[in-house]
Amino acid sequence: MKLSEVDRNKLAPMMKHYVELKDKYQDVILFYRLGDFYEMFFDDAILVSHELELTLTGRQAGLEERVPMCGVPHKAVDIYVDKLIKKGYKVAICEQMEDPKDAKGIVERSVTEVISSGTIISDTLNEKENNYIGSIYNFEYCYVLSYSDITTGEIYSKILDNDYNKLISEVVSLGIKELIINSKIDNTITNIFKTQYKIPITITDNIYEENDYEYVVDNINDERYKISVNHLLYYLIINQKRNMTHLQKLKVIKNDDYLKMDIHTKRNLELTESLRLKERTYSLLWLLDNTKTAMGSRKLKTWIENPLVDKTIINNRYDIVSKLLEEFLLCEDLRKALYEVYDLERLSGRVALGNANARDLLQLKNSLKHLPEIKYILNSINFYYDIEVLEDLYNLLENSIYENPPIGLKEGYLIKEGYSEELDELKELRSGGKNFISNFEIEERERTGIKNLKVGFNKVFGYYIEVSKGSVNQITEDMGYIRKQTLANCERYINPLLKEKEDLILTSEEKIINLEYSLFISIRDKVKEYIPKLQEISKVISEIDVLQSFALVAEKYNYVRPTINDNDEIRLIDSRHPVVEKVIKDEYVSNDIIMDKNTSILLITGPNMAGKSTYMRQLGITVIMAQIGCFIPAKEGNLPVFDKIFTRIGASDDLVSGESTFMVEMKEASNAIANASKNSLILFDELGRGTATFDGMSLAEAILEYIHNNIGCKTLFSTHYHELTDLDRTLKHLKNKHVAASEEDGKITFLHKVKDGSVDKSYGINVATLAGLPKEVITRAEDILKVYENKEKKRDVIVQTTLPLDFEPKESVVEKELKNINVLELTPMDAINILYKLKDKVGK
Ligand code: ADP
Repeated sequence: MKLSEVDRNKLAPMMKHYVELKDKYQDVILFYRLGDFYEMFFDDAILVSHELELTLTGRQAGLEERVPMCGVPHKAVDIYVDKLIKKGYKVAICEQMEDPKDAKGIVERSVTEVISSGTIISDTLNEKENNYIGSIYNFEYCYVLSYSDITTGEIYSKILDNDYNKLISEVVSLGIKELIINSKIDNTITNIFKTQYKIPITITDNIYEENDYEYVVDNINDERYKISVNHLLYYLIINQKRNMTHLQKLKVIKNDDYLKMDIHTKRNLELTESLRLKERTYSLLWLLDNTKTAMGSRKLKTWIENPLVDKTIINNRYDIVSKLLEEFLLCEDLRKALYEVYDLERLSGRVALGNANARDLLQLKNSLKHLPEIKYILNSINFYYDIEVLEDLYNLLENSIYENPPIGLKEGYLIKEGYSEELDELKELRSGGKNFISNFEIEERERTGIKNLKVGFNKVFGYYIEVSKGSVNQITEDMGYIRKQTLANCERYINPLLKEKEDLILTSEEKIINLEYSLFISIRDKVKEYIPKLQEISKVISEIDVLQSFALVAEKYNYVRPTINDNDEIRLIDSRHPVVEKVIKDEYVSNDIIMDKNTSILLITGPNMAGKSTYMRQLGITVIMAQIGCFIPAKEGNLPVFDKIFTRIGASDDLVSGESTFMVEMKEASNAIANASKNSLILFDELGRGTATFDGMSLAEAILEYIHNNIGCKTLFSTHYHELTDLDRTLKHLKNKHVAASEEDGKITFLHKVKDGSVDKSYGINVATLAGLPKEVITRAEDILKVYENKEKKRDVIVQTTLPLDFEPKESVVEKELKNINVLELTPMDAINILYKLKDKVGK
């Protein structure tokens, strides 16, 4: 039965309310609270029972047939909501707003939150990653992208060119989980996000117009940021009913503040995930992450994706890493203390969003406990930030929150004794009552002489006296027992005294639970006031955590502090690829990468598998490590600050599908040469191989010339086209390098050593032999190669002989003589003689 086919007039009142509510939440699954369950009806019930493999049942709702229904227990709701969100759905939670006992007519219910992949705050979120929700606002000539992590309250904005490839690249590389888009955006873009990247999208032009969150943008002048932020806030606050009091001030990301890389470069260099498995393992992030806190881990990811370009800040970070290495004992203490600090950022978020429980506040307290020690260490190493230790907040929590509280807030056991007199009095009353019960049992056994008489409790009858069937005859009327329940082998009774005490116990129990709850909420509200301070502390802690992680890897893997120069020079001695050196079984062969200010291009040749791409990636990764403030894998390092990195390495992954590899390759090359500046770094691995040899070679040469003559930035260019190595004669800033291999009896050994000059052999067949191709294929390939090589030689001859045609032809002797003859004056005999002589000359 579909909702659209139902005669609404016939529906029972509760179902009518459900249907009216559902009208407002059409693209959302509505979880409707009924007692201990959240129920779904009609189409939602069918969908959810299918998606979550739940039983589909029915409910009488005034119609002839029962309406489809399926439900989940309220205590386990998070698990089910999580699963639906992961499948790309949104869920609205509709709660009972009053106790059904107090309700007159149908229970008042309303939607308290709408959960989607960008607004979920459950414990299942990866603590090492931000969960961003973003808004894209199209201003026709540019896009503004604002994004926020509601678990931490961070919010950022950036202006992007009116180029949808860049927009997609930015959204995908930030890992934004959900998008709000204004209606001016092209459908193609929306479809790419939806279908290719499975990002849920809401299209709306609504803007938040109230001023509760003005502080977020109060230091911003550009109206575009304000509009974009309010576009996002409308969705979060009005639509999703989120309370965002922990929202931080907007941070505008200016393009020029960071080293720019597009999504291809981030992927190619395997910064945060490996190319093949798309996992964190074997990425640079994986290698460098020895952080002790979740905040630190998230910060490291952000740093790796946004390397700095400000030399002073970079050097400040190096200074701290050096200091931590020197002060290794303090550094060890710092690590121990950081290890004890919980995710303050997300804890603050939970407090603000109103779902922090007593365990969260306990974690907060235990974290605060270590702040004085951390502060002391920060001051000792002259860290560029300081922290407040929030002693008041610590004391408040220390004095109030019970050490081992339950998860729920309506079960009591939240508040310590001594915090509230009223609570302590109630607890005394309750324990007085409980003492009475245990004494009462002993006394009744004596009074009745029934040894196995028991006093028990259940929710329906409250306290009762239980007597086994065999002893029932010992009960006499004067004992005042009133029979309450008969079971198979016993009888249950009450008596007036027991009922009187029961009242006392139960009312004090209820009062205690209510009082504890309200005390807890007031404590949580007090914590709320500290949120901005906690967020400040989180920033400092996450930053020092990343830096201690840098110190740790520097020590563990022998990294050095690089020098940043202003003279456009790269000088890396014994440089290594940090991840490959850690992962391979063999010893890693280190290489120098030296490019003085007069060298802009290294043209690298060498067989497949020699290590060309590794060498290029090595430079890319080293530059990024240097510009995030990390030491680098080399014996000595001197680098300039790069403004952008462009790469074309490895397999292409097209963002906008439907384009051939070659097209993507050329687009990336075109993007690089259009946007690179003198201070950029270009890494092109076998550019042009996606097309026919001569096309590819010509394109490669033309691109090299263009970079050389018009950009002049540092470029590593590996190639199969040995013909290109002659370019060093004409391009004076280009140098040839090759990766050495040695061949003995047809067997190739890769030395992985990068040397000056070029090689003229590609060893393709040797590599294929190594790969285990059958012997007959290899032998046949060798024969074919010989034929091709001969043909190539012949073609060379033809090309040689035809080439001079380009020049003005010289006059031959015969031609000269012919020109000088006046035919009209010749006798037939002279003509025959001349002809004879000329033929003789030609013959010679
Ligand atoms: P190419 O780009 O020349 O085809 P790669 O850079 O992909 O070669 O390298 C092939 C393999 O050689 C890598 O997977 C790596 O294991 C190994 N390798 C590369 N460079 C080195 C090195 N400097 N030291 C040790 N092994 C290396």
